Amino acid sequence: MEEIIVVNNNPVNTNTYKCPICMSDISIDSICKTDCNHKFCKSCLDTWFNRGENSCPTCRNNINYFDYKNNKNRIIIINNGENNENNENNLQAITNDFQAIIKKYLVLIKFQKYMLFLISSLLFIYSTSYYNLTQQNDNLIHRYNNCIQNNTLLYLENRRLNSRELINIDLLYNGFLTACRIPIYFYQECIKG
Ligand SMILES: [Zn+2]
Ligand SMILES: [Zn+2]
Repeated sequence: MEEIIVVNNNPVNTNTYKCPICMSDISIDSICKTDCNHKFCKSCLDTWFNRGENSCPTCRNNINYFDYKNNKNRIIIINNGENNENNENNLQAITNDFQAIIKKYLVLIKFQKYMLFLISSLLFIYSTSYYNLTQQNDNLIHRYNNCIQNNTLLYLENRRLNSRELINIDLLYNGFLTACRIPIYFYQECIKG
């Protein structure tokens, strides 16, 4: 594929290459060599690339890079022009996805707010009823303690009433002093009065 033209004994033009695009000799400072080892002039290759082509005009392999003035130039393909519609479609798809995600989050946030409200309401009801129950419990405990105390008093009183202990007293009755034996309870009640 490489065409080397040796011009008779001219040291300046010993190695010249014909550009397959413009069919003229490539000047030394304009020579570009692709990674498939084909040579073109810089302006022709630029025009070639500007047409949106990235395959080698000679061998049709994709050009990944080319050497020009000891610099390696990498070819990066960017979709534009005819792919605008695709890009717009992609953008629309991304926007739709994004909107769907935001909608999902909004629903989630609404649900969380609702749950938070529900939980706080339940907590309020629970704490109120808990407070009421605690008060009722305190009240019942108080009444129970009172009951036990009264029961104890009653028991003591009952025991005193039923006591068979007797005491000797001198009873003045109708002008006569009489020696009596009465239950100690009645005696105590009498003394108290
Ligand atoms: Zn050329
Ligand atoms: Zn090539």
